[in-house]
Amino acid sequence: MAEFTMDLNDDQKQVRDWLHGFAKDVIRPAAAEWDEREETPWPVIQEAAKVGIYSLDFYAQQFFDPTGLGIPVAMEELFWGDAGIALSIVGTGLAAVGVLANGTEEQIGTWIPQMYGDVNDVKVAAFCSSEPDAGSDVASMRTRAVYDEAKDEWVLNGTKTWATNGGIAAVHVVVAVVDPELGSKGHASFIVPPNTPGLTQGQKFKKHGIRASHTAEVVLEDVRVPGSCLLGGKEKLDERLARSREKAKAGGGERVKNAAMATFEASRPAVGAMAVGTARAAYDYALEYAKTREQFGRPIIDNQGIAFQLADMRTQIDAARLLVWRASWMATTGKKFESAEGSMSKLYASETAKKVTGQAIQILGGNGFTREYPVERMHRDAAIYTIFEGTSEIQRLVIARTLAGMPIR
Ligand SMILES: Cc1cc2nc3c(=O)[nH]c(=O)nc-3n(C[C@H](O)[C@H](O)[C@H](O)COP(=O)(O)OP(=O)(O)OC[C@H]3O[C@@H](n4cnc5c(N)ncnc54)[C@H](O)[C@@H]3O)c2cc1C
Repeated sequence: MAEFTMDLNDDQKQVRDWLHGFAKDVIRPAAAEWDEREETPWPVIQEAAKVGIYSLDFYAQQFFDPTGLGIPVAMEELFWGDAGIALSIVGTGLAAVGVLANGTEEQIGTWIPQMYGDVNDVKVAAFCSSEPDAGSDVASMRTRAVYDEAKDEWVLNGTKTWATNGGIAAVHVVVAVVDPELGSKGHASFIVPPNTPGLTQGQKFKKHGIRASHTAEVVLEDVRVPGSCLLGGKEKLDERLARSREKAKAGGGERVKNAAMATFEASRPAVGAMAVGTARAAYDYALEYAKTREQFGRPIIDNQGIAFQLADMRTQIDAARLLVWRASWMATTGKKFESAEGSMSKLYASETAKKVTGQAIQILGGNGFTREYPVERMHRDAAIYTIFEGTSEIQRLVIARTLAGMPIR
């Protein structure tokens, strides 16, 4: 088992520098254009595919890095480039993680390659959990999956919302209710293969930030998928449901992880790393600006009011990164999150990103407030980190309940 270390090995440094180069030379120059267009930056995704960044191989290599630092290092660099474009590149990963966390080897081998497509025909995937009446309260989900035993098919009905890549994805991973009596323990995840009849895109949202990333409703009307599309398989589901029913009958409070929670647990430190990337981008920009912008005959960084802000920004970014790396290392090396360390990392990093990007605007003065400079976009983008994958309030709730030894439903 890998010991926790902050020293990246030579391979990790090489990957970090390579990704930084891509973020600086390809992502950042395209950021303003795709933010204005509010469209998926397909040409940039294709560039990422050409060099091997948008691929199952690359994602799996980072995901299975035994130190746990592969994913956070990659996310920080890509999101340093631009959050909207980077989310378009890594959004497929959330669906892929859903399959990796809950799927059989066969499902992983069949569906994840289809999520990415190939260099000449890139595809994206979507993970659909949230619903209009089930955001933070995942347990109130209504999308229903009913098993048609005669045909060995599952029939899905419901409306999903806020799905990154929803409707434009080749493969959708959909979380649905299989046993309404069991609340969140009665959920299961399904693959909806490409071009399945009955799945349509609803409203596409016009957003405050990460505008290069497509977010939309996904409507499911009598969507039939083969039995093999149930992630983990029917036998495992039946066993899990039987255990939950037993516990419900006995009135036991023991927690049983549902499929969607497993995805979120694995992905929270990764979202923290995205936030660190955006925060660092704004800090880097503000630092250079403060060193060169002169007022009253000297660079503005000569004023303690500006210098101390930069000192705080950098300190908080480094602290956020440490929390993220710790959580990723723990998750990868199988250490239990005794104090909700995954949630801690996401909470602190996302709040830091929101704060630091706001400070960057202040340091740039009037320029910071315009779209001629990137920090206002970074500030708009940073707002998402305190909302998706569990809001800051929900992270606090998870941390507090964990500390108190109370169940998290
Ligand atoms: C751009 C974007 C992309 C997204 N991508 C995806 C995706 O790919 N797949 C997916 O499934 N979902 C996705 N989401 C959904 C996201 O995870 C939800 O928006 C989020 O979980 C919050 O749910 P909600 O929007 O319904 O807010 P609500 O749950 O309605 O919350 C509203 C407010 O109430 C607070 N609140 C709620 N309950 C409590 C409580 N018990 N205690 C204290 N405060 C509380 C919240 O913190 C928040 O401030 C995305 C969202 C956005 C905006």
